[in-house]
Amino acid sequence: PSTAECGCGATLRDVNVPASPSPEQVFDWLDTAADKRAAAGLTRKLRPRGASSTELDLAGNDYLGLARDKRVAGAAAAAALRWGAGATGSRLVTGSTELHTELEYELARFCGAQAALVFSSGFAANLGAVTALSGAESAIVSDKHIHASLIEGCRLSRTDVAAINHGDPAAIKHALATRRKPRALVVTDSVFSVDGDLAPLRELSQVCREHGAALLVDDAHGFGVLGEGGRGAVHAAGLAGEPDVVTTITLSKALGAQGGAVLGPRRVIRHLLETARSFIFDTALAPASAAAALAALGVLKSEPGLPDKVLTAAGTLSAQLRAAGFRVTTPEAAVLALQAPSADAAAEWAARCAEQGVRVGCFRPPSVPDGVSRLRLTVRADLTESDVDTAVKVISESAPAGAAS
Ligand code: PMP
Repeated sequence: PSTAECGCGATLRDVNVPASPSPEQVFDWLDTAADKRAAAGLTRKLRPRGASSTELDLAGNDYLGLARDKRVAGAAAAAALRWGAGATGSRLVTGSTELHTELEYELARFCGAQAALVFSSGFAANLGAVTALSGAESAIVSDKHIHASLIEGCRLSRTDVAAINHGDPAAIKHALATRRKPRALVVTDSVFSVDGDLAPLRELSQVCREHGAALLVDDAHGFGVLGEGGRGAVHAAGLAGEPDVVTTITLSKALGAQGGAVLGPRRVIRHLLETARSFIFDTALAPASAAAALAALGVLKSEPGLPDKVLTAAGTLSAQLRAAGFRVTTPEAAVLALQAPSADAAAEWAARCAEQGVRVGCFRPPSVPDGVSRLRLTVRADLTESDVDTAVKVISESAPAGAAS
């Protein structure tokens, strides 16, 4: 076997296969990899929160404060008792309940799309949408800052993918014009998940139309926060219901539930139902989550002022942090980013905030597309002025040297 050919034409002797490792040694390489991550300040840890934690949460995505709302959590509990704890099967087998159908109908109607399809997560929705709407005959052109789930979708599509520098519609146009495939799919986030900045959706749509491309927008952070009554960034850009635009959302952020959905033209939704592997081969969203999302959508419809409260809180927090000398992004939605001097400093900063009762997100490589580590702060509709004061005080007191100017 030492002279056997491997795929690249080298022999096993050339590629230095170690003497047969013992079962205990098979995963030794994981320790080496963990040591490398630790040396680069990239160790990750779970920090479970207690049910009665009094921590101030500036890290979660419960933008409308609905995850623990009694109307939403109560609907989930009632649905679990009525339908069972799990969905029992995939959507095409036993997993579709009346709740799933109603949720799809209500989501499409609210957002102004022809139809919707609910997935078990936003991650699965993105994987399914990108792979099913591209393929060997289609080029994919994406912004480099898109969410990891879209990137995985691009990779799984096994076609030409052009990842364009962040926020450069002219370069997207060029990539579309010079593509070698008959079809094309442009993929973007609406609100980029790390810095919270917005994609120029109208301009991207125009570019797509000039080149016969479809536009796929991940509105995970826009839905429930932006647009009229929280209808999302795609609706706000006047693109809801357009024949060449597809939107993905998550039910796990503004709606405080769990799951994801794709919204778009009826024939797109039918194609996904019949071909998207992350839809077909995945157990359906739990009925409790579908019920929670439906109830949250009901709250959003009856309280259309909720999204504005998120934007107000984001504006206040950002202004106060800037006044304290920090490099903070301008808020466009619920997400703010604070630049940290290094990956280690970001992790220590976040840990010190947590010790003082304020939970913030810490984004380090590989979660940041440009290698610049940040604290990521999110706001909620129910954040009070005193919460914001506390947050700014704790973030300032915990800051590493060099974080503020
Ligand atoms: N897209 C974006 C932009 C996200 O931030 C997330 C969640 N982090 C997802 C998709 C995935 O959604 P879910 O958590 O529902 O899988």
